[in-house]
Amino acid sequence: MPSAPSAEVPSVTVSRRGAQRLKAGHVWVYRSDVISADGTAPGSLVSVADERGRFLGSAWFSSASQIAIRLLSRERVDNLEDLLRRRLREAIAYRQLVVTDSDACRVVFSEADFLPGLIVDRYNDLLTLQVLTQAMDAEVVRATILSELKRLEPSAIVERVEPKIRELEQLPTRASGMLQGDKTSTVFTMNGVRFHFDALEGQKTGAFLDQRENYAAAARYAHGEALDVFCYQGGFALHLAQHCASVTGVDSSRPSLEVAERNAALNHREIEWIEANAFDLLHDYAAAGRQYDVIVLDPPAFAKSKKSLPTALRGYKELNLRALKMLRPGGILVSCSCSYHVSQADLLEVIAQAARDVNRNLRILENRGQARDHPTLLNVPETAYLKCLIFHVSN
Ligand code: SAH
Repeated sequence: MPSAPSAEVPSVTVSRRGAQRLKAGHVWVYRSDVISADGTAPGSLVSVADERGRFLGSAWFSSASQIAIRLLSRERVDNLEDLLRRRLREAIAYRQLVVTDSDACRVVFSEADFLPGLIVDRYNDLLTLQVLTQAMDAEVVRATILSELKRLEPSAIVERVEPKIRELEQLPTRASGMLQGDKTSTVFTMNGVRFHFDALEGQKTGAFLDQRENYAAAARYAHGEALDVFCYQGGFALHLAQHCASVTGVDSSRPSLEVAERNAALNHREIEWIEANAFDLLHDYAAAGRQYDVIVLDPPAFAKSKKSLPTALRGYKELNLRALKMLRPGGILVSCSCSYHVSQADLLEVIAQAARDVNRNLRILENRGQARDHPTLLNVPETAYLKCLIFHVSN
C-alpha cells in the first residue's frame, strides 16, 4: 500500500542504464530497464536499487505504463502522506513567487513539482485536478491531495478525466465530475484580460495557461492589424486587441470560437472570428496579397512522436512561410510550437529557411518558453515543451 512504512516497502531492481538515468538527475525508469519487480502491486511506493542492491531513491511503480518508475524522492520515504502534503505546499508557494497579474495558473505540474502523475489548475475560485498514474489514483493519495487543496478554499474542485490515460494506466473508468462543491463555471483574469471558464465543457485543457506570459509578451509589440491563427478561445487575440486597430482570430473549432466571442464581449472588444482550416486560409490570404502587422501562429502539436518530426517540420515551415509573406515591414511574427519533439533549434531552423525563401529579414525579439507556473526541471527535458519565438520582420 502507498502508505506503508519503509520497512515494508518493496524493492525494485533497475538495470545499469536505469540507474545511470536516475543518477544523471532524471526521474523516470522505463519498463525495459526494470530487472525485477516481482509481486509489486500496481501503484506501489517502492524502493529503487541498482543491481548491486544500492539504494537509488523512493518511487512510484506502474504495472502498465512504459514509464515503470517515477521517482518521488532520492531519500527513503517513511511517511508518504507528509511528503505529499509538503510537496503540495511547496508547489503552491512557488506559484505565489512566479504568478502575478493572474488568478489562473497551473498549481501542480506533475514531475516538475515532484508530484508525478498529478496536474492541478486554478481558474479563479475553481480548481481542476487530473490524475495520470496508478499511484496518484490510490484512494489514500487522492484523499491527502484533496484535503490539502481544500486549504486553498476553492468554491469547487473538479476532476477532469482523460479516458485514454486511464485506459493506458489500466485504471477503472471514471467520469469527470465534482470532487467538492457544485460550481462549474467562473470568470478568470490573466494580465487584466477576462475569460470564461467552464470546468466540464471545452477541450480537455480548459485554457492554455502555459501561454500566459507569452500573451503579455506578444501584447508588448502589438500594433496595427493582427491575425491570431489557431486562436482557440482567443487567448492571444484578446491580448492583442488591447493595442491593435483590428484583430482576426482563426480556428477550425466552432465551439472554441463561440467561447472566444463570449470572451470578446466580456472584455468589450470587437474581434472577427473565422472558422476555417488554418492552412487553407493562410494559403488563400497570402495568394490574395493580404497584409498584417502582427501574426500569431500557435498550432496544435504536429509532432506527437519522434517519427512524425519531418512531417511536422514541413507543417511549421508552411505556416511560417505564409505568415512571413503577409507581414508588413516592421511586422511582428509570434511563432509557437508545443511539440516536445520539435526543439527550439528545429523551430528556429524552419523559420530561418522560410525567411530565406521569401526574402525577409528577421530579428529575434524574444526566445520564450512556457510560463513559469509550468516549470521546467533542468535534468528532465520532457518537462520543457512549449516554444514561443517573437520576431521583428523587415525587408
Ligand atoms: N492559441 C490558443 C491555443 C491554440 S491550441 C490559446 O492561446 O489559447 C490549437 C488550436 O488549433 C485548437 O483550438 C484547435 O481547434 C485548432 N486547430 C487544430 N487544427 C486546426 C486547423 N487545421 N486549422 C485551424 N485550427 C486548427
